[in-house]
Amino acid sequence: MQLNVSNRCSHCHEMVKSKRRDFNNQTWTVLLLLGEVHQDSVDRPLCDDCYNELRDILIERAGEIDTAAAATPGNVVPQQKPAREAPAGKMKGRKISKIAG
Ligand SMILES: [Zn+2]
Repeated sequence: MQLNVSNRCSHCHEMVKSKRRDFNNQTWTVLLLLGEVHQDSVDRPLCDDCYNELRDILIERAGEIDTAAAATPGNVVPQQKPAREAPAGKMKGRKISKIAG
């Protein structure tokens, strides 16, 4: 019997109240592609911290996700080799602010 509630988070493996989240299949695939979750964590209970964290990542990286998903026909996630690496020139759009002074 599989319950939607667990005492252990499948992502951080802390013994905390966790529950299965309503991420859909595509969302899990994206998280796998980004290397944010382990295959074993897919569709498993997550604690609040991990859930919020993963959700933030999804929002933050929504732009790259389209590309990653498009490059993966049939949503097949390779188990051993990591997903195709992004071109070296394309770094995160994080701005580095200079220290004023
Ligand atoms: Zn957790």
